[in-house]
Amino acid sequence: MTTLTAPIIQPARAPGADPRLEPIRAKVLAGKRLSLDDGAVLYATHDIWGVIALADTVRRRMHGDAAYYNINKHLNYSNVCALSCKFCEFYRKKGDDGAYTRDLDYIRAEAVKAVDLGATEMHIVGGLHPYLPFEYYTDMLRAIREAAPGLHIKAFTAVELVHLARIAKVYKRGDPQSGVRWVLERLMEAGLGSLPGGGAEVFDDRIQKEAWKTKIGADEWLDVHLVAHELGLNSNCTMLYGHIDGRRERLNHLEILRRSQDKALARLGYTGDPDGFIAAGIPQTEAITDPVITLSGEGAVLPTPQGLERGASSPPIGRSPMPSDASTAKDQDGGLEAPRSRTEKKTKGGYYQTIIPLPFFPDGSELEHLPGPTGLENLRTIAVARLMLDNFPHVKAFWIMQTLPMAQLMLEAGADDIDGTVVWYDITKVGGSSTHQEKSVTDLKRAIREAGFEPVERDTLYRRVVREGKNWKTTTS
Ligand code: SF4
Repeated sequence: MTTLTAPIIQPARAPGADPRLEPIRAKVLAGKRLSLDDGAVLYATHDIWGVIALADTVRRRMHGDAAYYNINKHLNYSNVCALSCKFCEFYRKKGDDGAYTRDLDYIRAEAVKAVDLGATEMHIVGGLHPYLPFEYYTDMLRAIREAAPGLHIKAFTAVELVHLARIAKVYKRGDPQSGVRWVLERLMEAGLGSLPGGGAEVFDDRIQKEAWKTKIGADEWLDVHLVAHELGLNSNCTMLYGHIDGRRERLNHLEILRRSQDKALARLGYTGDPDGFIAAGIPQTEAITDPVITLSGEGAVLPTPQGLERGASSPPIGRSPMPSDASTAKDQDGGLEAPRSRTEKKTKGGYYQTIIPLPFFPDGSELEHLPGPTGLENLRTIAVARLMLDNFPHVKAFWIMQTLPMAQLMLEAGADDIDGTVVWYDITKVGGSSTHQEKSVTDLKRAIREAGFEPVERDTLYRRVVREGKNWKTTTS
């Protein structure tokens, strides 16, 4: 008996696919920069699964099936803050119930606990305390460095650093960069290893005026990170969305960050795409002269964080450098080879590692009447961030604010990192009921594997970690 089988006809597009995504897909496959109008389509289309598939293409091109996590401990040294941002449920005024400021003994003990837990990183942020002297902050870093020399210290958001420049009386209104440089140099001497990405919110004057009028705006935030990059510090950046912002404002935020990263990568020796897209008009006062540099195309190599920490010398996690016939040169110190092509391995720090989209949680804030973003909006925003920020090595689904089940889904929507075990996180938390947000390494690995990815423990600078219990080292393999 013969069995007749009907020929399988593949549709040109999946049912429900949005034809407006086709030109965007072509750009993504060619490794070209997307425009803000492309971003608007990614946000507006009903075909969210098409958007997710595109983001997944880029994510797998950059990281294969690796999904990163780390073992870290958070320290909020004080919740006393001179400001009162409307979206913030963390701050207290001095003397309020629940206000706290940690002393050096407490901080030292936390560092020792972190080492005992096998942490590779201490993540430190706090409110803008109006009365602590500048020495409190350098003493804090020195105390951690002495108690736990192997811990990477990632500390202080841009607004805290501007605040420190003010309390150290080195902040000049006409020249904010020099004061921040002074502060960062002293903090680096005391042990600072990199900057977190908090406080960026959404770069927009209207939103700032309405929701965090007295907090620094985009220009100062970017200045701080620019100075940090010039000093060789890596940093991250966030986008707190889903409050009084609109999608176009989020896209503008991503465009501003992407342009800032172009500058950082150009400083590291990356060359631009002559056919690259540059969006006009954001910020409107600034002439656009920087090259467009993308890292998301086939064969692009991610920056290498070698030499950022004492004694550390491992290559980044991610794609191996492609063979290159481009020439290299000794840098000015006669040391590391300076790259001249995007196909070469990078050797110095000073760039954004990760974009961390953070959904707004209304509970307990002055914007409690707002609904906050939905799950699908969160998923879409991760995918849009991956696609728009073509020069960012990593996209983080911060499980504390996204939830672990949602972070699992986000690994297929452009995210390659879910952050860490995070012992004690006091800034914003889902449900608002507990300040102890903690997952075991087993939980994180299981979640990653269940999502179809390979868990890779990283350090703060995205170097692969090999460990035996609480002992660990970074490795080249
Ligand atoms: S967001 Fe930061 S600066 Fe604003 S009130 Fe909260 S702790 Fe203070």
